[in-house]
Amino acid sequence: MSDISSFARTIKGDVVTPDDADYANSIARWAKNAERNAKVVVHVKDAEDVVKSIAYAKDHKLPIAIRGGGHNAAGASSVEGGLVIDLKRHINYVRIDAEKKLGYVGGGAIWAQVDQEAIKYGLATVGGTVNHTGVGGLTLGGGYGWLAGRHGLTIDNLKQATIVTANGSILTASDTENSDLFWAIRGGGSNFGVATELVYQLHPQRKTVFAGNAVYTPDKVEKLVDLTKKWLDNVGEDEGMIHVVAATPDGKAAFIVIFFYNGSEEEGRAHYKEFFDVGPVVDNVREIPYEQLNSLQNPQASHGRCYYLKGVSQASPNYKATMELIQKVAEIAKGGVFKPAILHEYCPNAKINSVPVSATAFRRQISSNILTNVAWEEGVDKAAEAREIAKELVDIVLRGQGNSLDDAEKSGYTNYDHDDIDIPSASIASPTGDHWAKRADLAFASNYPKLQQIKKVYDPENIFNRWYPITPA
Ligand SMILES: Cc1cc2nc3c(=O)[nH]c(=O)nc-3n(C[C@H](O)[C@H](O)[C@H](O)COP(=O)(O)OP(=O)(O)OC[C@H]3O[C@@H](n4cnc5c(N)ncnc54)[C@H](O)[C@@H]3O)c2cc1C
Repeated sequence: MSDISSFARTIKGDVVTPDDADYANSIARWAKNAERNAKVVVHVKDAEDVVKSIAYAKDHKLPIAIRGGGHNAAGASSVEGGLVIDLKRHINYVRIDAEKKLGYVGGGAIWAQVDQEAIKYGLATVGGTVNHTGVGGLTLGGGYGWLAGRHGLTIDNLKQATIVTANGSILTASDTENSDLFWAIRGGGSNFGVATELVYQLHPQRKTVFAGNAVYTPDKVEKLVDLTKKWLDNVGEDEGMIHVVAATPDGKAAFIVIFFYNGSEEEGRAHYKEFFDVGPVVDNVREIPYEQLNSLQNPQASHGRCYYLKGVSQASPNYKATMELIQKVAEIAKGGVFKPAILHEYCPNAKINSVPVSATAFRRQISSNILTNVAWEEGVDKAAEAREIAKELVDIVLRGQGNSLDDAEKSGYTNYDHDDIDIPSASIASPTGDHWAKRADLAFASNYPKLQQIKKVYDPENIFNRWYPITPA
């Protein structure tokens, strides 16, 4: 009996190798360019399976990747020639304790499951705005969502987690148990172990919300930017907006505003009246069931395409830069290969920034996020070209704001940076080089030294090293 089959017999879940029919499916990711040829994929069923998988990987000197929802386009949840601990297939339950307003969620669940289950009880938490993203990566990296204005980041609503650490311990992390680990996983990503369960604070949530997209012609942008600045000055907790400059299927550029108001259609329309008075050419904003809110953007983020993502922070809405972006996106889209989209997210930040930067590992920022997303259909080798396109688009944003890439990255959202040059390759034994040290320093800023101390306790050999790897102190 081969070594792998005796290992497989000890696992309750499924062990998949390149010879299995299930292999292509097992290494598939949201972004085609994030697929890597793993040696073994273990679709774990519980924390014990995770413990055994870590031990097997260590015994066989296999690099490890942890897969939650599989949305990191740079391949952080994949590994060439290594072992993938995949939680999505089996550890994806959602159990609601309506009385205590808590959601117990398997580390491989996606946000759609959480939204749909919790709202049955009139409850919700802060989840991702594209509901097929995983709870795992989004939570451990911070977590922005439409409800963040009122309830803070996803990590601010995380009450407890079960983490399997590098030495095979199954630990509860909370404010009262292993509180150093709990601090570190709230922003420190997959650096500290495998989260098999995440427990969220849930909040009363109305069953319908006012949300959707409105498309405007470019001549309306100046007015919309002015209105947005005014709106931001008095933004309330129950609202949010995204300005999108995106390529249309016929190779043009569109300016789209996604509106959110946690209220009825009547309230929402009255609240955003000035924006509607500007006169969108398409108006799809209406009262919808809450569980549909985070599916509004799903059509623009379909599985199986190639993607390059870059995140920077933004100072404030900027008319000149937006017009330049519209022009550039149209120019790129005309080429017929790349479909760029730049999302300017306007989330009320007061609640988020009421939590001190030192309270969790997440590097909180004063401003909002910009996500630049370049998509293309075929050819994983086009990632370098996509990176250059994203850079040109980011440059326009930065010129408009008058700051450097370093400035913007220092306050950009780590979970929006999906660049494979940031992911250690299997051939690099220990990712302690200058590049990753600089990236981790940017990502965690003043929290980095403390993270390094905690890394030394829970992962001294740095086996969890595929997302902003932290060098143990
Ligand atoms: C289309 C799209 C929309 C997005 N929208 C939002 C948004 O609205 N708000 C927001 O905050 N972010 C958003 N993001 C960013 C998102 O938070 C990150 O891409 C996140 O890492 C995705 O998590 P995942 O579990 O799906 O990905 P994966 O690729 O599975 O994992 C990403 C990283 O997290 C680790 N990880 C995943 N699960 C676990 C686990 N259970 N235990 C330990 N480590 C784990 C992986 O090892 C990897 O390092 C979006 C991303 C995309 C692609």
